[in-house]
Amino acid sequence: MDELDSQPGQPRGCTHRPRFRTMAHQQTSPRSVELEFGGPLGTAAMLLLLPVVLFHLLLTCHSGPCSLLNLPSELPPTSAFWSPWALLLLLLWLGLQATLYLLPMGKVSEGRMLRDKSHLQYPINGFRCLGLTALLVGLGLAGGLPLGSLSELLLPLASAATAIAFILSLLLYLKSFTAPPSALAPGGNSGNIIYDFFLGRELNPRFGSFDLKYFCELRPGMIGWEAERQGGWPSLAMGLVNAFQLVYVVDALWNEEAILTTMDIIHDGFGFMLAFGDLAWVPFIYSLQAQFLLNHPQSLELPVAGAICLLFAIGYFIFRGANTQKNTFRRDPTDPSVAGLETIPTATGRRLLVSGWWGMVRHPNYLGDLIMALAWSLPCGVTHLLPYFYVVYFTILLVHREDRDERQCLQKYGLAWREYCARVPYRIVPYVY
Ligand code: NDP
Repeated sequence: MDELDSQPGQPRGCTHRPRFRTMAHQQTSPRSVELEFGGPLGTAAMLLLLPVVLFHLLLTCHSGPCSLLNLPSELPPTSAFWSPWALLLLLLWLGLQATLYLLPMGKVSEGRMLRDKSHLQYPINGFRCLGLTALLVGLGLAGGLPLGSLSELLLPLASAATAIAFILSLLLYLKSFTAPPSALAPGGNSGNIIYDFFLGRELNPRFGSFDLKYFCELRPGMIGWEAERQGGWPSLAMGLVNAFQLVYVVDALWNEEAILTTMDIIHDGFGFMLAFGDLAWVPFIYSLQAQFLLNHPQSLELPVAGAICLLFAIGYFIFRGANTQKNTFRRDPTDPSVAGLETIPTATGRRLLVSGWWGMVRHPNYLGDLIMALAWSLPCGVTHLLPYFYVVYFTILLVHREDRDERQCLQKYGLAWREYCARVPYRIVPYVY
């Protein structure tokens, strides 16, 4: 595996300032001094706004007019937002996924070298867990469990997931004070309670070998997103949405090892941002198109469906190709599939790909992801804005994320990153952005 994540490598002669600085006397405990997401005020607003947006979208999606820009005319009673059964169900779900995570199946992979020069071990069994979950859900349905009526518990399930995300983030925040300085994330250690609670102070919080961030990243939310799939195959439009999203989830779990070189794992701490994102936002917001189609069926002509499938295939091809290429290169640069690619050396000893997918734009994986997002919104037609919320939100997220990553890479690689930017001038969309 690779080298230390946060080498000092200050950019020489560059116009950007590094996003955070490592104080000389704290080489193993970086203190974030340049804050992201609008600092304490911005993160405080997001703590409030994210759950509000989540519930606004769920209510709108199930309302008659389904108008994104207006409040639903009738709000359900507060009792509709809470059910002890929903909480119990969610806890059982988390317990099931945690048990499957711990089963000794599949290979164990090594993460990137940490500041204290150690490597963490990660079980790569997410795909098997998805298979076992599907089997258990199938058995439950055959045995007469009323799993089909889960959609009636959507609001209380979303409330329970939000509550669990808040409680988990609080526990993670408190736990981070027991962690050694070298275990803290570079970005979530500002000293401001709200900011650090939001971003997460500890990089890889664990109980024994159980990695909380890695567990939450793909399992309870992603598998949950698939498990709450709506309404079978009643129409071509619903069939496409279900099929595309199934491909996305299966792909993520099949290629689980690739998340070990992503920003979430190597850079971001585990706090509210990821906990809420993984446990509440992904399963309830990413399923909006299917929820929309259940309440507002749309017809789709075969040639249009064919064109949408082609768009999805192009997006998937770029997304998977780029992620696999970078992950393979970072894990083993001598692998025959990447050994011939042109690279730029950096002062850290790590090299940057400058040909192949990563020579086309600086974040080809984001481009593929965005094309797929558009493809699984298009089957919902053009009469409503709501199914396109995902595309708009995801574009903002990835543009902002790309900017964050650029700043981190500039700090890590300095002049080498500037050379990469000069040789690959576009960030996400060739000749556009
Ligand atoms: P990336 O997987 O793009 O990782 C960024 C890192 O890759 C950089 O910090 C750098 O790290 C390395 N890198 C950048 N350029 C090069 C290069 N030219 N050569 C070699 N290495 C390079 O970041 P993300 O974690 O943001 O994204 C992972 C995937 O997850 C993407 O496909 C994204 O679309 C998806 N995603 C999906 C979300 C969703 O909600 N569905 C949310 C966020 C992301 P280093 O050099 O240190 O290795």
